[in-house]
Amino acid sequence: MSAESSITVRVATVRDQIAAACARANRPVASVTLVAVSKTHPAEAVVEAFKCGLRHFGENRVEEASQKIPRVRELIGTEADRMMWHMIGHVQSRKAEEVISNFDTIHSLDTIKLAERYSRFAAAASKSIRVLLEVNVSGEDSKSGFEASDWQHKADKRDQLWEAVRQISALPNLRIEGLMTMAPIVEEMEQARPVFAALRQLRDALAADFPQWEWQGLSMGMTDDFPIAIEEGATMIRVGRAIFGDRAYT
Ligand SMILES: *Cc1c(COP(=O)(O)O)cnc(C)c1O
Repeated sequence: MSAESSITVRVATVRDQIAAACARANRPVASVTLVAVSKTHPAEAVVEAFKCGLRHFGENRVEEASQKIPRVRELIGTEADRMMWHMIGHVQSRKAEEVISNFDTIHSLDTIKLAERYSRFAAAASKSIRVLLEVNVSGEDSKSGFEASDWQHKADKRDQLWEAVRQISALPNLRIEGLMTMAPIVEEMEQARPVFAALRQLRDALAADFPQWEWQGLSMGMTDDFPIAIEEGATMIRVGRAIFGDRAYT
């Protein structure tokens, strides 16, 4: 089987799993956006996934994306205007301008400083950029994102997080769409469920206090746990290996 046709087969399998999870959760399939995480894979693999009907693609490294995205556009032609690119990785602030010029949605907004830079560059480009705030709801030290564990019990943690949202909300040319998180690596996907439920609860609390934003976006779930994330309300799942196969490096 060629690499291309295996992408076709894998996309069909992932779509079946999304449909099954949506059926269990009594949700319409259209309420879940599949973001195909193409990091480490070549432009040709993205084109193949595009031909399967995928329109949302995620990348985590600015340098890699800055080469790949124009290459994909070249290969696809005008139809590429229908693609949406999602930045899902940690970004150094000096790369903020490049992110604004290549991406439509940023899932990994994790500092106020970066928000300020995105806002400034988006304004300069006369763009409005969709952002999700990346939060660490599991409290694991290794995770990036705004600290968001235990906010229900610790007033200082809640205040700090709410203050960050207040400051980011005030920045022009950024549209807050919701929250993103990475679940810890676990043996059974069921173990990730409390983390996804916690993200949804935090979203509900923020939506009540910051009604100027819709907060409809919940970016959670990857290859190993996306069915559970969908059951817990994910509106965007970020799936790499299940579509493109194993990565040679991360
Ligand atoms: C790589 C990556 C993914 C996709 O992971 P898979 O396990 O390949 O599905 C999702 N989200 C982020 C932030 C990533 O870096």
